[in-house]
Amino acid sequence: MNPCPCGHYPDRNRCRCTRQQVQNYVGRISKPILDRIDICAEASPVSFEELRGQGTGETSFDIRKRVEKARAVQKKRFAGTDIRYNSQMSGGHIRSFCRLEKEDEQFFQRVYRNMNLSARAYTRILKVARTIADLEGWEMIAHEHLCESISYRSLEEKYWNN
Ligand SMILES: [Zn+2]
Repeated sequence: MNPCPCGHYPDRNRCRCTRQQVQNYVGRISKPILDRIDICAEASPVSFEELRGQGTGETSFDIRKRVEKARAVQKKRFAGTDIRYNSQMSGGHIRSFCRLEKEDEQFFQRVYRNMNLSARAYTRILKVARTIADLEGWEMIAHEHLCESISYRSLEEKYWNN
């Protein structure tokens, strides 16, 4: 998305827009469209110092290797089915491949109700959680994977449900 009217959102120290203005701005994406987006994240402006810093992050090469590994896991998982990637999973695939620990099952149920999620959002959260687990080389979706995935929908909670 383009910047807010004053240009500083989500940096609330600098953004001079009213809550109403921010809501109008964020609300330009309708809920049905947002429902079709897998990952939503607010990005704060990057300072000059941060850009000039050394950075300890992974290189593109490292990330590529990780992604290739996650793709190989998916290839193996879906061998013999008509799909190749997590994003293509249907309800049946999700039931077989996105199992959660019992506590996470209950946790997710609470989140689903509290955040007033749609069936589509439910599916997307599990697919993204599956992918995060694959990127980290985990066979099972762990609590932290589920939480990270849910956090990519937290904008929804913030702006679309009130
Ligand atoms: Zn602003």
